[in-house]
Amino acid sequence: MIRGLVQGVGFRPFICRMARKHGLVGRVDNRTDGVSVIIQGDLKTIDSFSNNILQNAPPVSVIKSLEINPTLVAGFDSFEITESKSSDNQITEISPDIAVCEDCLEDMITDPGRIDYPLINCTNCGPRFTIIEGLPYDRERTTMKSFSMCRKCNSEYNDARDRRFHAQPVACNTCGPVYRFRGSRADTDNIKDIPGLVSIEIASGMSVAIKGLGGYQLICDALNNNAVSELRRNKHRDLKPFAVMFRDIATVKKYCYLNKSEEKELISWRRPVVILKQKEVLSPAVSNGLDTTGAILPYMPFHYLLFRDLKTPAIVFTSGNISDEPIITDDSIAEEKLSKAATSMVSYNRQIYNRVDDSVIRFAGNRKRIFRRSRGFVPGPIELEYNVEGILALGGEQKNTLCLGKGHQAIMSQYIGDLKNYGTYRFFLESIGRMSDLFRFKTEVISCDLHPGYLSAQHAETLEQELNKPVVKVQHHHAHIASCMAEYGLDEPVIGISLDGTGYGTDENIWGGEFMVADLNGFDRVSHFDYVPMPGGEKAVTEPWRMAYSYIYSICGDYFDYESLPVFRSVGSARLSLVKEMIINKINSPLTSGAGRLFDAVAAILGLCQVATFDSEAPMRLESLAEYPTEEVYPFSAEKTIKFSETIMAILNDLPGQKLSFISTKLHNTISQVILEVSEKIRNDTALKKVVLSGGVFQNKYLLERSVRLLNRNKFKVFTNQLFPSNDGGISLGQLIITSKTRR
Ligand SMILES: [Zn+2]
Ligand SMILES: [Zn+2]
Repeated sequence: MIRGLVQGVGFRPFICRMARKHGLVGRVDNRTDGVSVIIQGDLKTIDSFSNNILQNAPPVSVIKSLEINPTLVAGFDSFEITESKSSDNQITEISPDIAVCEDCLEDMITDPGRIDYPLINCTNCGPRFTIIEGLPYDRERTTMKSFSMCRKCNSEYNDARDRRFHAQPVACNTCGPVYRFRGSRADTDNIKDIPGLVSIEIASGMSVAIKGLGGYQLICDALNNNAVSELRRNKHRDLKPFAVMFRDIATVKKYCYLNKSEEKELISWRRPVVILKQKEVLSPAVSNGLDTTGAILPYMPFHYLLFRDLKTPAIVFTSGNISDEPIITDDSIAEEKLSKAATSMVSYNRQIYNRVDDSVIRFAGNRKRIFRRSRGFVPGPIELEYNVEGILALGGEQKNTLCLGKGHQAIMSQYIGDLKNYGTYRFFLESIGRMSDLFRFKTEVISCDLHPGYLSAQHAETLEQELNKPVVKVQHHHAHIASCMAEYGLDEPVIGISLDGTGYGTDENIWGGEFMVADLNGFDRVSHFDYVPMPGGEKAVTEPWRMAYSYIYSICGDYFDYESLPVFRSVGSARLSLVKEMIINKINSPLTSGAGRLFDAVAAILGLCQVATFDSEAPMRLESLAEYPTEEVYPFSAEKTIKFSETIMAILNDLPGQKLSFISTKLHNTISQVILEVSEKIRNDTALKKVVLSGGVFQNKYLLERSVRLLNRNKFKVFTNQLFPSNDGGISLGQLIITSKTRR
């Protein structure tokens, strides 16, 4: 019995080829819990056969265990693949979707039945999770079930020597799903014409919607500023940077700085978006002044066909949705909703069952950091030390993900998004159902955030009623710390530092600059950023000038010439006095210790961002400037709470004469210094040496790298999120493992 990621990755054909090579007879089949192999032959040959399995397994597969039970078998005269059996409750891993392989790209030129076939695939590549409706992984439980194989495909499917032997989505120009172009100029399903038609649209500055693996995408020429701005308007997306698909790695290198690890990740079979430092600006409207570009390479056969014809070497490559809605998967909805943003549409008639966005990665401290974990990663599990069976963790509110506990594995859903959007909330509900069905999961306990206003937490209460199962509520920042502990198998008290924007605290204030001593059972809040009012509540998150005012007002009161700062001049005295009234009279001004709010305030003071048009815009603009060569730090006070009054005053002092990049860098240095000093205090009191850094603020590359360096230099052992997001996308994993500890 072989367990791990062994289904949908060409494993059975591989076993079959190996067995025949060794002259062994028997059979192999997919079970719900793995791949079962029965081998008849002498022990020595079987031994070398199993060594060969471990050494030469297909590239995407992951063997977790290979269990051999010697028994007497007889009666086999050949080696065959037999029908899958849906047996017990255990499940095997489901392969994520795999970028088209080199061999298939070659076949698109040479294989007579597959010339330019835009959905070509084999056992080493192609769609997986996005088309799987159930287990075990066989064609009839995928969205390929409605296509019957032609004679050629069928014979390849049944030929153990063939690369398409038991490749479930196998298809060709004769029998497979087809692409279709619909636009004002033409309506055709002739694949020979489609890339050309698309490139005419792109060259004339239009946007095109194309159906991807896990949903629709919108593309336009990334070098045409009008086209990009127009797409932004039509997609109702203000200034958030767009991802860009480049023709090839050479083009990426022309526009971005790229190191070896980043290059390796870009060309990996997972093919994520990798955030790179810009070398040359594409259209300014792509990144809007930020110094990074989210780069991705072609990963579907169609993308390659397209770049053959495209004049431009780079296209904007963004989710096909309007505003914050989930990425569209359904053809008729795409037609209805995307027709405003795109003049034409490319689709194909194979259904997308599981929606996934492109994954997003950034390297920091020379390690891979996943910001958005979706295509290429999902639904890969994480192995845990403890039993988490039956735990359903519902995650946070923004960047929501779910997490299911199966035995000693946590299985995180794809990126779901911001639940305040109704479409996304429905996707959340649908995902609970689909993930549970797919993994034969039975809820025993529900885990959610402490925030009474989170829709995920409210749904936990609904489930509590419906299923009559208990709910465990987990504090937001404790969950962040635990998500990182899960990655490293830590199960002991640590110094936990969680910096983010917003999370509900046990004192009902809004936390986000938290220093705790935590283990998986609980936490002690040792210190935190000092509270400041958030005038206007949620409004203060989208309007950083409010936080700038709040910080300065809490220090200077009326003894400051607010109009001396351009940001307050443009806000106007009427709104300033309104906000002042709110603070004084404590009207809709909850208290926050959020680190994100401090970054907001400074960004607004520096005039970088008065009103944010996307999540974390102000901190991102500030980070973009953090490259001045200075080791200086601003003064601050770290007692029971950490106060930034002196910091803000010093920044206001620096502002008239100093470069913004100097101020920004110095502020970043200051936060790293706070992290170091508070960690040292906690170490003095507790003798703890392990520091866990988590929370969305640690997506800030400069801050993360500097903090880790400082802590390491001072003999701390530092742990940071890598394979699961440090942002709220990781919350569900933290909830899950904390719940596994507290449920008994
Ligand atoms: Zn292939
Ligand atoms: Zn065929």
